[in-house]
Amino acid sequence: MEEKNLILIALIVLYIVIVFLFSRIGKNREIGSRKLFWRSLFLTPVLGLAFYFSSGHRKMIPYTERKYKCERCGYVFSEEFEYCPFCEKEGFKQELSPVKQFMT
Ligand SMILES: [Zn+2]
Repeated sequence: MEEKNLILIALIVLYIVIVFLFSRIGKNREIGSRKLFWRSLFLTPVLGLAFYFSSGHRKMIPYTERKYKCERCGYVFSEEFEYCPFCEKEGFKQELSPVKQFMT
């Protein structure tokens, strides 16, 4: 085998390794590392980087919980009370309003 071919093979191997390492950053993105790997392999990592940036962060499933908030003191309760227990102690009858709270 010619020396020229060996260099070419070495460059291809190096290229695949670089693309592979690069594609690992796509793990936390919506695109995923496998997709990013193949796109970067055929379209060069420069374009792969463009895919990486255009792809948003992995979406988290929004989970909301029903809570009850006192508009007067701002306290959020997980159970429903007719009146805010804290404000009731102070002599105020403050009704709680239902709110949706995002959970993480
Ligand atoms: Zn209150």
